[in-house]
Amino acid sequence: MGSSKASIPRIVIVGGGAGGLELATKLGRRLGAKKRAEIVLIDAAATHIWKPLLHEVATGALNTGEDEVNYFGHAHRNGYRFEFGYMDGLDRERKVVRIAEVRDDTDELLAEPREIGYDTLVLALGAIANDFGTPGAQDHCMFLNTPEDAEKLRKKILALSFAVGASGNPVKKLNIGIVGGGPTGVELAAEIDHTIREMHNYGAGLTPAQLEITIIEGAERILSTAPESLSHYATDALAERGILVACNSRVSEVTDAGFALANGRTIASDIRVWAAGVKAAPWLTTLGLATNRFNQIEVTTTLQTLTDKHIFALGDCANAPDGEGGKPLSATAQVAHQQASWLADALETLLAGREVKPFVFKPQGVIVSIGKHTAVASLASVVGPKRDYYVEGRGAKLIYASLYRLHQAAVHGWVLAGLLWIGDKLRRAAQPALKLH
Ligand SMILES: Cc1cc2nc3c(=O)[nH]c(=O)nc-3n(C[C@H](O)[C@H](O)[C@H](O)COP(=O)(O)OP(=O)(O)OC[C@H]3O[C@@H](n4cnc5c(N)ncnc54)[C@H](O)[C@@H]3O)c2cc1C
Repeated sequence: MGSSKASIPRIVIVGGGAGGLELATKLGRRLGAKKRAEIVLIDAAATHIWKPLLHEVATGALNTGEDEVNYFGHAHRNGYRFEFGYMDGLDRERKVVRIAEVRDDTDELLAEPREIGYDTLVLALGAIANDFGTPGAQDHCMFLNTPEDAEKLRKKILALSFAVGASGNPVKKLNIGIVGGGPTGVELAAEIDHTIREMHNYGAGLTPAQLEITIIEGAERILSTAPESLSHYATDALAERGILVACNSRVSEVTDAGFALANGRTIASDIRVWAAGVKAAPWLTTLGLATNRFNQIEVTTTLQTLTDKHIFALGDCANAPDGEGGKPLSATAQVAHQQASWLADALETLLAGREVKPFVFKPQGVIVSIGKHTAVASLASVVGPKRDYYVEGRGAKLIYASLYRLHQAAVHGWVLAGLLWIGDKLRRAAQPALKLH
């Protein structure tokens, strides 16, 4: 399994997330199944869940058991091989990736450390939230980086809403503070609000009036990277639901009682979530590849690392300039999805010994979900920059939902994605809308 000595080239992709799994699927079908290249996907988890769904996992609106993809089964059906394990090192001279030993939940050793050789390596390792070194953030905040984080948050919300509801004190409140008024923070706040209302309808937990959610944002408006009018739409939609927004508010310290802001204000919070900022995992700076101050791997417009042209990086772990204009691309599923499609074509072209043109991002607009039935979307980039085109409500929600369906189509093909969509509809008609245990 060490270095690749086979007659066909071996392409190793590390990270089977929004970008990596789509890339492995495309390359597996096009090259792996036809034995034109050996495609290997490595991931630290045994199953994939699309990261933009994590706020729905955190509220029980989505059951991971139903929406996750098992890598082993998926690899078998799509012409690539899956290797389960956490990459913790790289030897560029020998062209091998190092995988740490694998242990189960009871700490039993399942696999010794191992090495996997590559001819071409693609790093698609994602990112984590950036707490900017804020004192107390790591100890007193919950995060939303992994399905395990989302599950912990779900259980905490369920437990505390039950406790407040069961206290019999109608003025007692459950305070939830969310740092970050970007899409993640906004979507999470609206989803928690929706969940508490739904639970109340079921006769469980606290009343909606006992819930107080505050989004804490350092910039002067939420969704600060989206057009201003979209921020206004979203602010109004949150206000209608009673969700508070504190803009121009920088967190200076987090304690187990809440957030201390730089402007002297404090926000009491029983549950504290850090959903601001993005950085790559710090260990990426140890690989001998050039990285930026957010630990992201520096790549060219063809996604090749500045240090080694046989190593590519995409998605949140990469700092990639746009092929048109050179602006750094943001850490979104939209970017990871387009980079994966582009790289699948590019690797085929490079294998054939031809040159590739730079990757150019085609923005599809900004879409933010606000609860079960609403989303706000700015589609100016799709319909043309001269028209400020916004959609709200169910229309926007439909467009939002189609993003996930596109990911499913990339991973399963259109037919299976269509069947899964029908299956979801049927399942949701037959089951409670929330996972309450
Ligand atoms: C709650 C939430 C909501 C979001 N909503 C949106 C949205 O609406 N629209 C949008 O465009 N973007 C959204 N995003 C951002 C989007 O999820 C990311 O930009 C996208 O998932 C990045 O894709 P990726 O392939 O780079 O990484 P990821 O999808 O994060 O995948 C990384 C993969 O690498 C694996 N991995 C990590 N480290 C290792 C290691 N050392 N060894 C082996 N495997 C490893 C992980 O297990 C994971 O499978 C949201 C993010 C969050 C958290």
